[in-house]
Amino acid sequence: MTTTAAGPDVDIRVSQYLAEPLRPLVDGRRVPGRGGTRELIDPATGEVFALAEMASAADVDDAVRAAHAARAVWTALSPADRGRRIHRLGELIERDAEELALLESRNGGKPLAQARAFDVAHAAESAVANAGWATRLNGETRDMSRPGQWQAMTLRQPIGVVGAIVPWNAPLPMAVNKATAALAAGCTVVLKPSELTPVTALRLGELALEAGIPPGVLNVVPGLGPEAGAALVRHPLVAKIAFTGSTRVGAEIGRDCAAAMKRFSLELGGKSPVLVFPDADLARAVPAVAMGIFGNTGQVCAAGSRLFVHESIHDEVVAGIRAVAERLRLGAGDDPESDLGPLISQAQKERVLGYIRSGVEDGATLVCGGDPGGPGYFVKPTVLTGVRPDMRMVREEIFGPVLAVQTFGDDDSIDELLRRANDTEYGLSASVWTRDMSRALRLARGLETGTVRLNSAVGIDPAVPFGGVKWSGVGRENGIEGVEQFTELKSVVIDLS
Ligand code: NAD
Repeated sequence: MTTTAAGPDVDIRVSQYLAEPLRPLVDGRRVPGRGGTRELIDPATGEVFALAEMASAADVDDAVRAAHAARAVWTALSPADRGRRIHRLGELIERDAEELALLESRNGGKPLAQARAFDVAHAAESAVANAGWATRLNGETRDMSRPGQWQAMTLRQPIGVVGAIVPWNAPLPMAVNKATAALAAGCTVVLKPSELTPVTALRLGELALEAGIPPGVLNVVPGLGPEAGAALVRHPLVAKIAFTGSTRVGAEIGRDCAAAMKRFSLELGGKSPVLVFPDADLARAVPAVAMGIFGNTGQVCAAGSRLFVHESIHDEVVAGIRAVAERLRLGAGDDPESDLGPLISQAQKERVLGYIRSGVEDGATLVCGGDPGGPGYFVKPTVLTGVRPDMRMVREEIFGPVLAVQTFGDDDSIDELLRRANDTEYGLSASVWTRDMSRALRLARGLETGTVRLNSAVGIDPAVPFGGVKWSGVGRENGIEGVEQFTELKSVVIDLS
């Protein structure tokens, strides 16, 4: 057993937890997964660290039926009682923060301290934030065209069983956010984590039971996308799919849901622009832009992957980002010296290196980065300058630590900058660095993205709606909008005469 910074007690608990094959959690019980056993790989070494039984389509059917039956139990509780149990789940995540951080780090490779400070902290916070909405979701009364004769009210009713499908880059916070928002709305949930990272989602299901969330209300079915995921999407008792993942899979899911008139929300990929002007506070901007693409080894949907920098500060900014890149230490998640972990898989590493190669072949200049060699799925933080907007590495989402740098000049108007920044199929996030607030706000209005950050890099907050436009998705998570998406609005009209 390895000794980690999480402490010996946590190390022992985590080793014990991973010693048995992980199993789907259906109706409050661990059940054998009938979709085959999968080896979970430590991406820092390429070695197997645990086994997980995958859910088959039949297991998903069992989970959906359990969730469907549990709706009555869950909605029979008062909103305050539901909220209290969701809040308790947030407290349990905080209680077990070290253990969850170590599990998350071991499964996905991210540095332990970052898993603790970002993933687990955000998960706990979003559970607590969503718990509050349970008592604050209300309909309204509406006066109608002949007040006194007619009166209407709206009811916000839970949509029913929610199928939540999440990817591998931030497995715990995404699972918690979707699940607790749906639970706050009075829905029951079948959660399908990525087949690559099922560990913390399964632990979450157990903590939910401990928090007093009744069996069947939150079921967890790790499984393959085309098998367990597709079975969830197509299940007639699932009322809504809340999906986070790639644009390709999201588009497929959207089509399937639309054909069945099923509700869906899609949080998809991005190719987010970052604009840096000469009047920006470069001492803040440069490290933030660097970590906005290198953080979590670039496996962040909102990563700022296309940098537009004014030509007068290009060399200074690129040199600063390069210095950050070369300072960052690559290493295993449980090595306290690591700043950046590996990518999730060999396939992802090859994809990312392929994009770097394609950029160089298309004429870009490799400033730093590439393959560090050695075991594990590491890629060094990479910067390419002199890129053109038509290059494949500029158009497609890489989902790795690769920054594409372009310049602009004094002759470029705001409209021209917007045209260039918006020249992408994606529309998730954007950042603007300038002290000129009128310029910043004009850009903020014109950028075709779900979020614009002014003088700040990537970040998600449970209070602020988050989601994409264009091919980055449909719908919003976080804030009241993130909970209302799990309700149907019903109008009740009364004749007072
Ligand atoms: P992915 O689309 O391959 O998989 C996501 C999830 O969908 C997994 O659980 C997978 O098993 C499941 N899935 C795959 N095929 C399916 C199918 N046919 N039917 C149903 N489910 C299926 O994505 P990934 O590679 O795991 O994650 C990376 C992607 O996620 C990137 O594109 C990234 O931008 C995106 N992402 C978006 C956000 C956001 O909030 N917008 C956040 C994180 C990641």
